[in-house]
Order: sequence, then structure tokens, then C-alpha cells
Amino acid sequence: MPSTVRTLKLPSGEAVPMLGQGTWKMGEDRRRRADEVAALKLGLDLGITLIDTAEMYASGGAEEVVAEAIAGRRDETFLVSKVLPSNASRAGVKRACEASLKRLATDRIDLYLLHWPGSVPLSETVEAFEALKSQGKIRHWGVSNFDTDEMENLVSLPAGGDVQTNQVLYNLSRRGLEFDLGPWSRQRLIPLMAYSPVEQGALARNARLEAVAARHNATAAQIALAWVMMQDGVIAIPKAGRQEHVRQNAAALDIALTAEDLADLDRVFPPPTRKRGLEMI
Ligand code: NAP
Repeated sequence: MPSTVRTLKLPSGEAVPMLGQGTWKMGEDRRRRADEVAALKLGLDLGITLIDTAEMYASGGAEEVVAEAIAGRRDETFLVSKVLPSNASRAGVKRACEASLKRLATDRIDLYLLHWPGSVPLSETVEAFEALKSQGKIRHWGVSNFDTDEMENLVSLPAGGDVQTNQVLYNLSRRGLEFDLGPWSRQRLIPLMAYSPVEQGALARNARLEAVAARHNATAAQIALAWVMMQDGVIAIPKAGRQEHVRQNAAALDIALTAEDLADLDRVFPPPTRKRGLEMI
């Protein structure tokens, strides 16, 4: 068990764990449900109390798995959910949030994100988020899959500066955002929430991580995760449906990568040298 889960401050000043639990693909198969609930509960026991879900995942099924896992433990959980761009109108956000609250069996979502940029004017979505905040249905809001120009546009809106995070694809094999979105966000103290931190399992099978992993008596997945968690202003949200993976992910918090490790990783996964559009899964 890790000594403590390190925290990071949201712009609001609230501290959240820098390691969370993803839930995409949970709730899709009833036969896996008990394992998924057990994995999330174990994560809570280990202090990984930030849980990321979305109305999109298993068409609401993942939120129901989360509800089961956090039953009786709501106050120790920091719940993140997301609204689809197709529901991002004033009325749509309200409806979607109420449906998510019902599936999550709670009265509030801690951080509610716009899943990706869509066609509804952003100012309307932000107003809807602010209205939900004043009603106490959400505590904070943020966005996901926003590139630098979209973040610039967002923060120029009235109340746009209330954004608490931008959840983006970021891992050793997806470093494009280090060119501009990363520094832009760090400068404004807006944390990035790194999704698919082990590239949906692909980095766990990547032989090129083995040399570094061997030095730490760790797995390739743990090295990939430790690397994401070392980045300033970044929260990692791996999904693990197996308890063994949850334990390994929690233990990755205790891996301190050395300058030699980082140099080796840069050689295998070079940082970007020019602007690339933000990638999405
Ligand atoms: P991921 O976390 O990079 O990878 C999940 C896969 O890696 C699962 O197959 C999992 O296996 C495996 N895994 C986890 N820990 C492992 C370990 N220690 N060793 C070996 N394998 C391990 O990918 P992801 O699910 O795409 O991303 C994480 C979360 O980010 C999602 O669940 C979701 O909450 C969020 N997300 C958000 C967006 C967005 O657009 N905002 C997009 C994608 C994802 P088991 O499940 O079998 O344990």
C-alpha cells in the first residue's frame, strides 16, 4: 500500500489525488460487474478516491457500477463525470446531469466535464454548468479534449476562468501536448487529467519499457504510469477492472524515476519538436 496518495490543487484550491480510477468499458458486461465493483472499492481502500466516469460509458452503465462501488462511501470519493457534446445545450446539460446523478445514486457530482468540443456555443454550456453549480448539483466543472486554441477561447468567456481541468489523452506514446497545451495549462495552473495513461494497455506490453522497469523491479505499466504522475500539474486516471492492476497502479506512486530513466524514456518516446493537433481516443 502506498504511504499516501499525493494530491494536486485544482484552481478552486481544493486538493484532489493525482492518481484516479477510470471506468471506460466498465458496465458493459454483467459477468464482469462484480470484479469491476471490487476493483473500484479496492482503489478507494488504497486512497485512489478520484473516480472518472461519463454518461457515454456503457450508455450510463459505468455510472451504475460506480454507484455500487461508492455506496456508503460517497463522502470519501471525488466523482468526475462528463456530458456528451450532443447534450451540451442549456436544457440538455441540466437533463443529462440529473440522469447522471440518478445513475450515480448521489446528489452531487464533484467535477462535471464537457466530454469534447461540439457545436453548441461554449458560452451556453458554461452558463449551464454555472447554473448547476449554484444549485449544488455539481461542485466544479471542466472540459475534455480541448486543444490550446479552444482553451484560449474558453478562458476568454465570462466565467470561463472557472474551468478546473482539461482531461486529455497523454502518455509516453502521446506526448504532442508537451509542445504547447502542457506549458499553457501549467502557466495558468489548470491541471491536465491524463486519460489512457497506459495507452489502453498497449504500454503494459511494450518491450521498450522493460529496461527501465527492471531497474525498479516494476512492470512496464507501472513505469508508464509513474512517468505520467511525475509531470507537473498532471492527474493520471488509469482504468483497471482487475484488483491486481489496481494494486500495481497504486504502488506506481512510490516509483521515483531517475534522470537516467527519464533520458532513456525520452530516447524511446521523444518529446515533440513542433505543434501537433491534440490527439483523441
Ligand atoms: P488506460 O487506463 O490507459 O488502459 C486501461 C487498460 O489497461 C485496461 O485494459 C486495463 O486492464 C489495463 N491496465 C490497467 N492497469 C494495468 C496494469 N497495472 N498492468 C497492466 N495492464 C493494466 O486506458 P483508458 O481506459 O482508455 O483510459 C483511462 C480512463 O480515462 C478511462 O477509463 C476513462 O475514465 C478516461 N478516458 C477519457 C476519455 C475522454 O475522452 N475524456 C477518453 C478515454 C478514456 P484491466 O481493466 O483488465 O485491469
